[in-house]
Amino acid sequence: MDFAMYCHIVDEMHDLKIPSIRLQFYGEPLMHPRLFDMIQYAKENELRVDFDTNGYLLTESICKKIIESGLDELVISVHGMTRDDYRAVHKQDAFELVINNINTILKIQNDLEASAPAIVVQSAKMDANIQNFNRVHSLFSGAVHHSITHCGYNPHINTEDHRVQKYPYTRDVSCHSPYQMLAVSWDGDITICCADVNFELTIGRIEDGLSQAWHSKRMWKLREMHRKGIFPAVCRGCVDPVTYHRERI
Ligand code: SF4
Repeated sequence: MDFAMYCHIVDEMHDLKIPSIRLQFYGEPLMHPRLFDMIQYAKENELRVDFDTNGYLLTESICKKIIESGLDELVISVHGMTRDDYRAVHKQDAFELVINNINTILKIQNDLEASAPAIVVQSAKMDANIQNFNRVHSLFSGAVHHSITHCGYNPHINTEDHRVQKYPYTRDVSCHSPYQMLAVSWDGDITICCADVNFELTIGRIEDGLSQAWHSKRMWKLREMHRKGIFPAVCRGCVDPVTYHRERI
């Protein structure tokens, strides 16, 4: 996302007293050339800031910059607690690299006696990793803060292009997201939540403002559908609200 567009979003969030921003949408935030400017701008505007990362780029210097940036929470995806499990899920032989990188940021944080960011190890529990899942308790040393997240895994998301192929899950409960968050694409489309990977539920454009999208007829219609238990296809196939929970370790 272009930095000017980002500042425009943060300015509006500040005016609306929105409390937090998550700097991601199916990309790797550490690859953004202005990530640390973005964190700084959000912090200057009194927002809580976090992002998810695959952890590959957490070099010592990046870890220091993260700690000094004022980031509130860093979520690192580790969907396998052994080298084989990790490779089976991530399709990359990077288990040792990521675990070492996490231990690096924990050590630096400990050395600096820094209380932020909170370090979260996030895992989607599935058949390929469940057997060794408890190893998470012994992988990290010098931890200041860490926890493990169990989150929904949709096996019907194509890992090549991240498009949802079909919607096999049928929900019967409403979801908190339409009352709690919005998601903005890199080029300014606004949708109902970050689980709408294909932007099927777009409710506005950033140049018209977050407020207009939040109060748009389509957004209210989607809330009404959730209240009545009539769900759009994206929501019918979404497992997030019923499976996502975080467990402290
Ligand atoms: S059910 Fe899923 S896709 Fe629908 S609003 Fe909730 S989190 Fe988003």
